[in-house]
Amino acid sequence: MTYLAVPITAGSLEQAKADIARALGDGAECIELRLDYLGNPSATDVTSLIAAVKEKVPVIATCRPIWEGGQFAGQEQQRLTLLRQAAIAAADYIDLELESLKDHKIPSEFQDVKLIISNHDFEHLPRDFRQRLYRLRQYQPNIPKFAYMPGDITDCLTALDMLHENPGAIAMAMGPAGTITRLLAKKLGAFLTFASLSGEKESAPGQINLRQMKQLYRWDAIGRDTRLYGVIGHPIGHSLSPHIHNRSFDHTGFNGLYIPLLIDPKWEVFQAFMDGIMARKWLDFRGLSVTIPHKHHALDYVRQKGGRLETLAGRIGAVNTLIIDDAGQISGYNSDYAGAMDAITDTLGIERADLKGIPTAVIGAGGVSRAIVAGLIDVNAQVTIYNRTVEKAKNLAADFNCQWKPLTEIQNLDAKIIINCTSIGMHPHMENTPVPGELLKPDMTVFDTVYNPKETRLLKEAKEAGAKTVNGQTMFINQAAIQFQLFTGQRPPKDIMQEVLK
Ligand code: NAP
Repeated sequence: MTYLAVPITAGSLEQAKADIARALGDGAECIELRLDYLGNPSATDVTSLIAAVKEKVPVIATCRPIWEGGQFAGQEQQRLTLLRQAAIAAADYIDLELESLKDHKIPSEFQDVKLIISNHDFEHLPRDFRQRLYRLRQYQPNIPKFAYMPGDITDCLTALDMLHENPGAIAMAMGPAGTITRLLAKKLGAFLTFASLSGEKESAPGQINLRQMKQLYRWDAIGRDTRLYGVIGHPIGHSLSPHIHNRSFDHTGFNGLYIPLLIDPKWEVFQAFMDGIMARKWLDFRGLSVTIPHKHHALDYVRQKGGRLETLAGRIGAVNTLIIDDAGQISGYNSDYAGAMDAITDTLGIERADLKGIPTAVIGAGGVSRAIVAGLIDVNAQVTIYNRTVEKAKNLAADFNCQWKPLTEIQNLDAKIIINCTSIGMHPHMENTPVPGELLKPDMTVFDTVYNPKETRLLKEAKEAGAKTVNGQTMFINQAAIQFQLFTGQRPPKDIMQEVLK
């Protein structure tokens, strides 16, 4: 079993007891009592805290000294006495720092206790990590624990390897780049992973809170055979994709876990991470969503590996979905264009081929425009690109052999479908619109890719003019639904996805 452990970092006995009760109520499977946060607790305090946990879940007693990144500032002997007191009070595990073991020996007063032998580096993945792991393993069957600050996500592979090679160990990378090591602990059979009671109560940087761990990241459903999925981007904290896909896995009973993967913008980091997960088949990564700034990198990676590439993804120059099959082969897709095309055709009740010859104005010449223009040109729609920066409109039109005009000429618009692919009208500038209201007519279809707010000023005025409207949330859900289908081979639960987005 891998425990979901909550560290108790309260500064007083009363608060610690309240936090223990809350953690147990929220589903903690193990409690780590951080005695160092209590200043200098008495033997009675230690005993009463352990009694508050005992018989409910296992309890670990830790009294981390300042020299190992903790709070305890007293004498070493005083610290060991406190830990001994915890052992006498029948704590299930005592955490002892590797560096505190003189002459590589377990002190006699801890010989009869189950120990976690820990080592921390709060600055980096230490160069001598192999020696440290070797030393930690010398104390098995006591539990080795190794925690460090990764430079970037590729450093996390060391902790994942350690767990793979030493099931029952504890290994984690701290900080935002280390999230993957905390989320995969159960799949890899770690002894535990830590989750904080709340943001301000974490005992190390990067701990995810207990409720998120259980509700968002499917703790109870994870097993050794859980398949992995994720979203690659930088930044990634704002992404709704983990919410949408994990809820969809819950709903369909699919054995998967979808996690955020913060990957530095450089190609080298993207490549090293991808090579790292492809080489470790036991991780069982099967699918990835890819967002800014890595969509082009994903395309290059598929080409470099000789993988299958969806034709239009190649023409767009962006891959936002990667699939890794049973044989470890990679393929790349673009669900952005497909999600947008489906949003239009579903609203109009037509097939994609029916868009042939329809005059369509695409406003904007960035990444989203490029995907949508590619999709429209593929079915021979009659496209005109309008953009503020004329050069960009010209270049995009040249790539897809269509018309272009400066945005200032929108007044002379002559189109049956209008698609806004700029951020004009997006929160918080909701008073703006790219198309003056008087140009909107009942025989038009107006599609705004902006999804916050759901109804932009452009869509509101289009509705008032009697036009059909398509909102950006529909496109967003469609592209996630296409990814879900590629990930799982199952029908996507679009209504659940919509509920999550709300
Ligand atoms: P991008 O590559 O940065 O392109 C932005 C485009 O917006 C450019 O054409 C830019 O014109 C134009 N623009 C920005 N501010 C403008 C302003 N004040 N006046 C006139 N034009 C302006 O961004 P993107 O990735 O294509 O995303 C564009 C929009 O698509 C986003 O804002 C978002 O709302 C929407 N989106 C929707 C979904 C979905 O699933 N629904 C997904 C992703 C994005 P210049 O070339 O002149 O700078």
